[in-house]
Amino acid sequence: MILLNPRKHVRQYSDTRSRDIMLKTIEFFERKGLSSIKDDDHKRIWYREYLDFVKENQIFATLLTPSKYSADPDARWDTYRNCEFNEIIAFYGLAYWYTWQVSILGLGPIWMSSNEGIKRDAAKALKEGGIFAFGLSERAHGADVYSTEMTLTPKGHGKYVANGEKYYIGNGNEAAMVSTFGKIAGTGEYAFFVANFKRPEYELRKNVCDSQNYVANYALHDYPVTDAEILVRGEDALYTALNTVNVGKYNLGWASIGICTHAFYEAINHAANRVLYGMHVTDFPHVRQMFTDAYCRLVAMKLVALRASDYQRTASIDDRRYLLYNPVVKMKVTSQGEDVITLLWDVIAAKGFEKDTYFEMAARDIRALPRLEGTVHVNIALIVKFMTNYFLNPGQFPEVGKIMHTRSDDFLFNQGPARGLGKIRFHDYGPVFDRFDIPSVKIFQEQIEVFKQFLLTATPDDEQTKDIDFLMSLGEIFTLVVYGQLILEEARLEGLEADLIDQIFDFMVRDFSRHALELHGKQSATQKQAEYCLKMIRRAAVDKRRYGNIWTNHVLALNGAYVMNE
Ligand SMILES: Cc1cc2nc3c(=O)[nH]c(=O)nc-3n(C[C@H](O)[C@H](O)[C@H](O)COP(=O)(O)OP(=O)(O)OC[C@H]3O[C@@H](n4cnc5c(N)ncnc54)[C@H](O)[C@@H]3O)c2cc1C
Repeated sequence: MILLNPRKHVRQYSDTRSRDIMLKTIEFFERKGLSSIKDDDHKRIWYREYLDFVKENQIFATLLTPSKYSADPDARWDTYRNCEFNEIIAFYGLAYWYTWQVSILGLGPIWMSSNEGIKRDAAKALKEGGIFAFGLSERAHGADVYSTEMTLTPKGHGKYVANGEKYYIGNGNEAAMVSTFGKIAGTGEYAFFVANFKRPEYELRKNVCDSQNYVANYALHDYPVTDAEILVRGEDALYTALNTVNVGKYNLGWASIGICTHAFYEAINHAANRVLYGMHVTDFPHVRQMFTDAYCRLVAMKLVALRASDYQRTASIDDRRYLLYNPVVKMKVTSQGEDVITLLWDVIAAKGFEKDTYFEMAARDIRALPRLEGTVHVNIALIVKFMTNYFLNPGQFPEVGKIMHTRSDDFLFNQGPARGLGKIRFHDYGPVFDRFDIPSVKIFQEQIEVFKQFLLTATPDDEQTKDIDFLMSLGEIFTLVVYGQLILEEARLEGLEADLIDQIFDFMVRDFSRHALELHGKQSATQKQAEYCLKMIRRAAVDKRRYGNIWTNHVLALNGAYVMNE
């Protein structure tokens, strides 16, 4: 059973404490019940009850403290179990995930810095139930962090005053430490420092969003800072911001997976038990198709995110493949999540608006994930930097297996300068596909081959490589290839049924064709490129038996598998 089902949480963990955290969290939410979660959501209630539970059970302290900074033998930064926790909390509500996520972002610059005093303070604050915040964004500058206006003015003897404003900063209302990004006056040198919301010079202006989360607009007015509160400065401060987002952005994929899984259970329970014109809604052929597509897309999302965890855990200064796989998770898994919710919503229609459902929240929240912490565009612009080496210059790497064992993933806080992306090498994707003698996988492989020929013989010219609109379409196809590679690698590790892989590649072939058609229609594409695009358009393998098997034994079988406690 690949999808999370809180009623049968039988995952493998490398230690009992990890299992205990997951089971306790499930129990907390099931005891709270859906109606209480929905009531808090509608009334925009700050999740004090949840944060008290987290504190009492030392959950963030165990999951978010690298082992070096804790006396607790179970404390470590373990990507695998953090994925699990991500998925579970988003399954119950994105708000519970968000306060954890922005704590991870806030802790990024702290654990990455060489300021040992602040690190010890952060570990202590985690033990005391503290949450954290990441003060990067400014109202006027969006993704353009180079234009940051928050300023630290030196006053001599290692003292400064900070002035400026931050916007959209989650947990900015009560974070134990707000990691704030700014520039040193005069030199323009970047710096990260920690701010304390309790000081009088910290003005909490407002919650920018109307939600349970506190997405703060705060201002610092002659806020005193000492060298002891500075985490990092210079170019390294910029790399720290980028490296923190490299790690954090991956979690958004898991939030989408958690949301879609819960929404899927609600949708199938509703449709399979609703009778119209004397038949079940799930008897309509188009409903079966939508559910099968939603299911396969969701399973694929999970396979990709699981596999990307292994590459994050084995990452080193010589193996930075995660820098491609993480934005793929961020951009592709989250946009697939939107597609899954749309498919399910098309089936359950009016039900998805009802205030008592989880779905009503899911339909709203799923849209946040492709758009925040870097839009799809920003991530595709990043992803295309890897395309040449991925296709044309593979490197040799030892095979990476499934990494579930106990280890603290400390490289994530020591990633080095976030540059040289175009030089990163990847293992050859070809053999990954060759291992599968599955009809739709073979067709997908043929589409890849045409795309490779496109790159080799109708290579985008200088003007096209500067045209972000053109690159977006190209990047969608490239991303799909990487997505397919990660799906197959994880499918092999999980021993996924061949029929399910074939059904997943049914939508993969269709999506490849859709993106090829999009690229074909670009005004900026040449005639030769357009011809290649048409050759990429293919039909997936037709197999009624396979489709029937997936529908009956995977999709409809989930009817009644999970209903949340009221
Ligand atoms: C609920 C919520 C919570 C948030 N939490 C935090 C937080 O805790 N901490 C924090 O620091 N920030 C946070 N943010 C800010 C968030 O990450 C912003 O999305 C970010 O600052 C970018 O700004 P923007 O969304 O206004 O888009 P803009 O940067 O204004 O982008 C406008 C358009 O330009 C495109 N674009 C921009 N740059 C590029 C590029 N290089 N290549 C291609 N296209 C590009 C974008 O795709 C977009 O379509 C949060 C925002 C919200 C709404």
